[in-house]
Amino acid sequence: MHILVTNDDGVTAPGLLALAQEMRKLGKVSIVAPDRNWSASGHVKTIDRPLRVKEVHLADDSLAWAADGAPSDCVALAVCGFLDEKVDLLVSGINPYANLGDDVTYSGTVTCAMEAAIWGVPAVAMSVNSPDNHLGLVDYGPAARVATKVVQSVVQYGLPHQLLLNVNVPYLPEKQIKGFLVTRQGLRVYHDKVDRRVDPRNRPYYWVIGDVPSGIPERGTDIGALAEGYVSVTPIQLDLTAYHAIPDLNTWVWGAAEPAEPARAPQPPAGPRQKTRARRQASSRR
Ligand code: MN
Repeated sequence: MHILVTNDDGVTAPGLLALAQEMRKLGKVSIVAPDRNWSASGHVKTIDRPLRVKEVHLADDSLAWAADGAPSDCVALAVCGFLDEKVDLLVSGINPYANLGDDVTYSGTVTCAMEAAIWGVPAVAMSVNSPDNHLGLVDYGPAARVATKVVQSVVQYGLPHQLLLNVNVPYLPEKQIKGFLVTRQGLRVYHDKVDRRVDPRNRPYYWVIGDVPSGIPERGTDIGALAEGYVSVTPIQLDLTAYHAIPDLNTWVWGAAEPAEPARAPQPPAGPRQKTRARRQASSRR
C-alpha cells in the first residue's frame, strides 16, 4: 500500500513526523507537504503561479517533499503526476487542534482529504484536541496509533467514492480513550470580533480574532464525542447540496414573480442629478 502523508502545519511539524512514522508500519509512505504553516487556509487551488518542490529531510532523517503551495495543492501535485507511483490512500495531519463542526470549511487538514477525494483517493484527516496552551509540546503518540486503526478499517471495509473521514482524537492518555464514535458535525461557537488597532504610520489595521471557539457538546456530534472521551469519526462528503431545501425552493416562483407595485422604468437617484441641473440652470443664467 502506498500512503501519501501530508498536513497543513508545514513539513517540519512534529504531528506530520509522528503520523509518517506510524504509517510506515502499514506500507510505503510518501510525504508531500507545504513548506510553511497553512492552518485555516481552506480549500485552495493555486492557479496564478507555478509550484516549486524541494527535497527535505525530517527530524528522523527520512525523505519528504516540501512544496510552496497550499495543503490541497500538495495533494493535487502528489496524485496528479509528481509521484510516479499511484497513491492508494491519503492521511493528513496530525493537526494539533481539533477540527469540529464548521471548522472543516476552514481546515487545511480536512481540505487535504477533500482534494484527495476529488481525485478518487480514499482519505482521512487526523486532528488531536490538544489544549490551547501546549506550547508545541503535544504528545502525538496516541493520535498516531488511532490513525493506524482508522487506516486499517478503511483498508478492510473500503470508503465509498467522494467520501472522506474527519477524525478527531481526544487529548487523553491512550488507556483513557473510550473507543470510536461515528458522528455528525456539531455546532461550533466562534467568539471572533474585530480588533481595530493603529499602525506606527497612524493607519488602522484589523484582526478578526477572539477566544478559542467552543461548541455544543451534543451527543451524536463530533464535539459530543470528544467531550465524552471518544475518538470522533465524521464521514464528510464534497456534495454540499442541502437536499432537504430543494422541495421548498421548488415552491418559489423564480424570476417571474408579480411585482407588488406596477413596474416603472428605473429612475436615477433624484438628489445629485437635480442639484446638478439646478446648478447648470444657475450658470446658464449668468
Ligand atoms: Mn493546522
